Amino acid sequence: MQDTDMVQRDDSDEQTPYHIDESWFEENDFSFESFVQSRMCSECQARLGEEVEERYTVLNKKTGRATFDFRKVPYGSSPAAVIRDCCSKKKDYILPDMATLEAVFRVYLAHGNQPMPLDHVREQLGDWCPGGGCQWLILPMASLERLVQNDRFYGIRPHLLPTAA
Ligand SMILES: [Zn+2]
Repeated sequence: MQDTDMVQRDDSDEQTPYHIDESWFEENDFSFESFVQSRMCSECQARLGEEVEERYTVLNKKTGRATFDFRKVPYGSSPAAVIRDCCSKKKDYILPDMATLEAVFRVYLAHGNQPMPLDHVREQLGDWCPGGGCQWLILPMASLERLVQNDRFYGIRPHLLPTAA
């Protein structure tokens, strides 16, 4: 995660960083995991539930040294990481006829849900629309911001810094 010292709190500011708020899914009784899994590429969807080995860090309390160990987890149990590392690199990950919020949601996933202001999101969207005529690219910035602020489905919310000490 990158530092966010440019973050401003004013919601009306164009530079407000947004992100996908996983707690929104909990509050609304939606499963973030299955919502994100359904955005995986077909190869990854076919592997869902397959057992894979995941490396994790073990701290030895006696020696204070960290070592690695492996555990078996179902494939896709960290769906956002799978999308960042695989599916978002497929050419049909974002398509011109996708709904605007769907495309915005996918940009955040492709970047590991790093908080980003919407004008950065739009720069990323430019890569998915070489002709430049896609509906989510020609939308005026203010309309894009309004769409995101009225989002009731994707959990895209302003990313607020914890209160500074
Ligand atoms: Zn994939």
